[in-house]
Amino acid sequence: MRPDLLNPLFAAVDSLKGVGPGLARPLEKLLLTRIRDLAYHLPDRFVTRRAVADLDEASVGEQIVIALTPREHRSSPGRGPFRIVAYDAAGNAITLAWFGRNAGWAKKQMPLGKTCWVAGRLDQYGQMLQMVHPDHLGMESGAALGQLVEPVYPLSDGLTQPRIAALVQQALTFLPELPEWIEPGLIAKMDWPKWRDAMTLAHKSEHPGARDRLAYDELLANSLALLLVKAANRKRTGTPLHGDGSLRARLQLPFALTGAQTRSIAEIEGDVAQGAPMLRLLQGDVGSGKTAVALHAMLIAVEAGAQAAMLAPTEILARQHYETLRKMAAPAGVTVALLTGRDKGKAREATLMGLVDGSIQICVGTHAIFQEAVQYRNLALVVIDEQHRFGVGQRLLLTQKGRRMPHCLAMTATPIPRTLTLAQYGEMDVSRLDEMPPGRQAIDTRVVAIDRMPDVIDSVGRHMAGGGQAYWVCPMVRENEGADLAAAEARHAELKVRFGDTVELVHGQLRPQVKDAAMERFASGAAQLLVATTVIEVGVDVPNSTLMVIEQAERFGLAQLHQLRGRVGRGADKSTCLLLRSAALSETGRARLALMRESQDGFRLAEEDLKLRGGGELLGTRQSGDTPFRVADFEQIARLLPLAHDDARLLIDRDGGLDGLRGQAARLLLYLFERDWGVQLLRGG
Ligand code: ADP
Ligand code: MG
Repeated sequence: MRPDLLNPLFAAVDSLKGVGPGLARPLEKLLLTRIRDLAYHLPDRFVTRRAVADLDEASVGEQIVIALTPREHRSSPGRGPFRIVAYDAAGNAITLAWFGRNAGWAKKQMPLGKTCWVAGRLDQYGQMLQMVHPDHLGMESGAALGQLVEPVYPLSDGLTQPRIAALVQQALTFLPELPEWIEPGLIAKMDWPKWRDAMTLAHKSEHPGARDRLAYDELLANSLALLLVKAANRKRTGTPLHGDGSLRARLQLPFALTGAQTRSIAEIEGDVAQGAPMLRLLQGDVGSGKTAVALHAMLIAVEAGAQAAMLAPTEILARQHYETLRKMAAPAGVTVALLTGRDKGKAREATLMGLVDGSIQICVGTHAIFQEAVQYRNLALVVIDEQHRFGVGQRLLLTQKGRRMPHCLAMTATPIPRTLTLAQYGEMDVSRLDEMPPGRQAIDTRVVAIDRMPDVIDSVGRHMAGGGQAYWVCPMVRENEGADLAAAEARHAELKVRFGDTVELVHGQLRPQVKDAAMERFASGAAQLLVATTVIEVGVDVPNSTLMVIEQAERFGLAQLHQLRGRVGRGADKSTCLLLRSAALSETGRARLALMRESQDGFRLAEEDLKLRGGGELLGTRQSGDTPFRVADFEQIARLLPLAHDDARLLIDRDGGLDGLRGQAARLLLYLFERDWGVQLLRGG
């Protein structure tokens, strides 16, 4: 049970003043559902704006304060933004744009003809100057606005900076004093503030000490929890599995296993033969052949007379795995079944029966395979694909099925740097598939400036005229969600005008049925061009698709670009990936894209990306789930994690039950960061 002291922090956000149903959704999108989440919603940066008399004085990308007179209100149909056309004192025009729910509010704030102070970032859209979601409107004096140092928070549709800032300030008033969990020597040496002070300071201005302290807290909580899991796991009993090789011998795979696959299988075989349950991570780049390794692992379980289950993060992936495994396992005479949330009625009943009576030996599915109603005769191995989609807590829950703990093999294609491996998978043993199956062709990767868009569209046209298929990826980054979605939809519409019905669109906000239908049309070859946001990152396998265009490539993390690119280069033909970049690109941006051109090695890309990214770069990772952290950024992880890990180990060595004074404080920390399954394991012993 969570200590009472923390209860106010875990109250729902709608207990705050001014949070009605209208705000609940935008907040939820940012994963801000409790007071605690708001307090930890740290600014991306701080701004001080420059007051300018007219737009000629300002440059694109700059944060400015300016007096503007609205001339025209423009609503656009559908998802388009609400726009106000306004003029500065010198007669220069600018468009102010709002996406989502803010249109009515903006209209009221800026009546036509009435001059008003506007603060925000100056952008350009085509030929027109623009400001998307200005931060302030209608303040009395521009001078005061120009002096403000203000936090800039990550936003979602329907939220503005002032809105979120006010909510955060309210949330901060609920913070209790908490006892110190950081080692006293360390906190003195680092000159870090106390927890509550650090929370307040981090929202007020640049304060590296406060940010580091909060990041360290999160890292410490994570390391503690992982060490507790590891300790608890050592005490659990699993089922030792001794396969006799008979089923594996009957497989008729059309290829010989690579050395890395053979080694990984041997490591797994060694683990599952033990009494303690396996907790192993199989890390292998896209296309490195993880499925074949998983199949061998599951056949070991079946040879030993037990069942195995494989968990996929999405419906589409589950189906794909099912088809692949069923075909591969057929010569061995093994029964494979599929179970997802969408299976209903008789078919579902039959599957459930088969799992209970053991006639189904391998079950593939989404998290539906671990629901209460699903009983197994003797489940001894769980394979989890695309591990990073599931938290450690969830993993623990689902491996609690049955009195004995099943062996667990987690698989991930996310090439995480070694420092992060420790953070995310600290409790696991790791096998790496560091060798690609032979005969893979390199993907011809090119960086193309955005102004060559017409040429790019022409070459996509030629590619399709020759019977090829292609992906067209648009970014979808939380900070600019409404605009991004609109951009993807606009691009789809534009390409459809040019190429007709052969163009499909998928993004995360479509209904699942609509999305699946589009995917299926593309997978079957009925559609040739798939415009998509990053939803295609995991799981789609269309070997005939050998061209990928990625718009605004500089906005993606390298690891993510690498995963996206892994969607092509799956067939026998040579594949191409065009990375479209903006006209103005920072030096780091250039360097990152150049790396993409040079290297196809996911692990190397991940390491380099970590080096190239500065601090504060968490954007896009929070959503893609590269790291299990919300507070610590990449740079902090690299710098502080080793410290936190050592500190956690020392604490557990000294006080494994977390009963001492510092141990008690550490329990609070675990609750605060919702690593309390660590505490629960303590109790369960
Ligand atoms: P991932 O690691 O991305 O899950 P898959 O298991 O889907 O990769 O394998 C990618 C492709 O490589 C599949 O078509 C698979 O049949 C093939 N493959 C796997 N192992 C080998 C191998 N040792 N030699 C040749 N092809 C292989
Ligand atoms: Mg796979």
